[in-house]
Amino acid sequence: MRTDGPQQIMKLPQLWLNQDINVYPDADSDARITISNVKEAELRLARFAPLLMELFPELVASQGIIESELIELPSIAGIDNINGRYGKFWDKADHALPIAGSIKARGGIHEVLEFAESLARRHGLLDSSNDYCQLSSSTSRSLFSQYEVSVGSTGNLGLSIGIMSAALGFRATVHMSAEAKQWKKDRLRRHGVTVVEYSGDYAQAVEAGRQRASADPHSYFVDDEQSHSLFMGYAVAAFRLQAQLKSANVKVDAEHPLFVYLPCGVGGAPAGVTFGLKHIFGKAVHCFFVEPTTSPCFLAQMQNPDRPGITVYDVGLDNVTEADGLAVPAASALAIKEMRPLLSGIATTADDTLFADLAWLHDQENIRIEPSAAAAFSGPRMVLGSEAGRSYLSQQGLLPHMQQANHIVWTTGGLFVPDDEYAGFLDRGRSVIRKQAKPQAHPGVNNS
Ligand SMILES: *Cc1c(COP(=O)(O)O)cnc(C)c1O
Repeated sequence: MRTDGPQQIMKLPQLWLNQDINVYPDADSDARITISNVKEAELRLARFAPLLMELFPELVASQGIIESELIELPSIAGIDNINGRYGKFWDKADHALPIAGSIKARGGIHEVLEFAESLARRHGLLDSSNDYCQLSSSTSRSLFSQYEVSVGSTGNLGLSIGIMSAALGFRATVHMSAEAKQWKKDRLRRHGVTVVEYSGDYAQAVEAGRQRASADPHSYFVDDEQSHSLFMGYAVAAFRLQAQLKSANVKVDAEHPLFVYLPCGVGGAPAGVTFGLKHIFGKAVHCFFVEPTTSPCFLAQMQNPDRPGITVYDVGLDNVTEADGLAVPAASALAIKEMRPLLSGIATTADDTLFADLAWLHDQENIRIEPSAAAAFSGPRMVLGSEAGRSYLSQQGLLPHMQQANHIVWTTGGLFVPDDEYAGFLDRGRSVIRKQAKPQAHPGVNNS
């Protein structure tokens, strides 16, 4: 047994680079996720599209497909992109994803649909026409009502699982950790979802939910720490983004590097996206996660491969952050394993910076996001402006190509934030910006 503790992580914004990138483990016998699993998920979402259109009128315009826009951003706070020296910036606008209002719409909804599909097949609810609208019939709904779908959540995963499950007629239960916002609980209850509240952290809410579901054969638990189905659903975003880049005439190759910055909680959502993008673009895409300085669980686990299950408490941090979607003490083991050879690095960011970026984005671009989503903006500042970032660009031979680079900040949530809550976010962000307008400014890029 070891007696030495892990190295503590400083509560300061930093950029960590993954030295194991491109080092692939020997083939192991564990079932790994493959790109054909991701294709299956994409096809499943397409099969359900007509039903989703019927259940959610807001999906009629997109023919039942849940997807967000890719929006060009003229600038990013704290980055002096004179003459486009760093290339172009884009926002992948998952903050506006319908139904769930966050990136969880992809993974969470996919897993509920996969469960519904397997029940439907087992019980012969789909005839040879294979028309999925049959799953809104009273026969289907009465079968689904015999089952419970449950999940542990800090908020957004609960919204996606709860709302989709309830819409199909399942009994839905969401186990919510202490940082879950009241409005997210209220929204779920309005949709007929049972919300169970815990005073503990996210890992405890997940464990409690897992235990309760395991005792009930009619209960299906969506396990954020281990689910392949969630991961596959998240990864579908990569194919969608590939098509969007193509129609925006954005090239991605060795001379046109693509950088993608993703807020990270347990790591499932950003890892799914990264898994898909690395499959498509290989070494031409560089994916960075961003975590709160107080809650960098993915960083702690990547830095300590010999300590599986390490928490942010073990490295001297308290997991207290206003970024409720990222307030997670321990990373998903599945995501860690998949990311070891693929992830470029991890940036951490302070809560004040999240609010400043949220307010900046509102005032400059009229885009409305939640604090967790704002974490993405610290990615490009760190990669383009820090010592570590520059050393990454130089090691990877990217410096000559930066004018042709593209940077995507993935704004992961925000659609349903109530107005009064959002007004509070804006106030705090604007006051941070005012304070920082003094000399040292945004923790920005210096362009010397
Ligand atoms: C859940 C969430 C994330 C991160 O997803 P994980 O799978 O937990 O890493 C990022 N942003 C928002 C808004 C989220 O709700």
